[in-house]
Amino acid sequence: MDFKKEANKSNCACTYLACPRRGDCYACVEHHRGNAELPGCFFTSESEKTYDRSIKNFIQTIADKE
Ligand code: SF4
Repeated sequence: MDFKKEANKSNCACTYLACPRRGDCYACVEHHRGNAELPGCFFTSESEKTYDRSIKNFIQTIADKE
């Protein structure tokens, strides 16, 4: 499990490096789902850096891409 967490960390698109859930994708999804949000890896790199993980921001990001 720790090996997988380390592997996930190296592929993680989230720029909040101090997050204790970094690399633990189950905990990441659970945390953001509980706040009606999505994990950082769902967002474009530009939008991810705002740390606004709201579903509203996700939809706006997708709309802006089209
Ligand atoms: S997306 Fe959220 S929970 Fe996941 S690593 Fe980034 S800040 Fe942490």
